Amino acid sequence: ASTLERFLPDEAATAMLGQDLALALRPGDVLALHGDLGAGKSTLARSLIRTLADDADLEVPSPTFTLVQSYEARFPVHHFDLYRLSSPAELDELGFDEMLEQGAVLVEWPEKAGDRLPESAARIELLEQDDGRLARITAPAEVEARIARSFAI
Ligand code: ADP
Ligand code: MG
Repeated sequence: ASTLERFLPDEAATAMLGQDLALALRPGDVLALHGDLGAGKSTLARSLIRTLADDADLEVPSPTFTLVQSYEARFPVHHFDLYRLSSPAELDELGFDEMLEQGAVLVEWPEKAGDRLPESAARIELLEQDDGRLARITAPAEVEARIARSFAI
């Protein structure tokens, strides 16, 4: 697969990327959100979830301590923050595999999941660049085509 890139000059641009990704997302998709602390993973996830729920004021807290927060949007969407995951095996207690089967899954700190993320997961990398961020998206061809289409709208 090739890589899509978009420069995000400010927080609003990160939120707009979340809106575009929400249009592209389908049940069964997994988005692995890579990036350092403060890169904008939660900002992106919040905007995506609000768009998918069609509710601009929806509370989307960072699931730092609960590790996962689920939403009934257009379809179920499960938002993970695995920073505090002690081992990939702990994912079983959270019902990770079941959630992969029913809805879309967003994962902050996907590195913590070891090899438990599906091969088909889309990789979204947020890198600090100048005063903004560079988003770099790599996904299987079918998913990437959907994302590219949502960018063009
Ligand atoms: P993470 O979940 O990756 O730790 P957060 O989304 O919680 O990051 O925080 C990101 C911080 O960076 C917020 O303060 C937000 O306002 C800011 N931010 C988000 N996107 C951008 C951007 N494109 N350019 C500059 N600052 C941004
Ligand atoms: Mg976060």
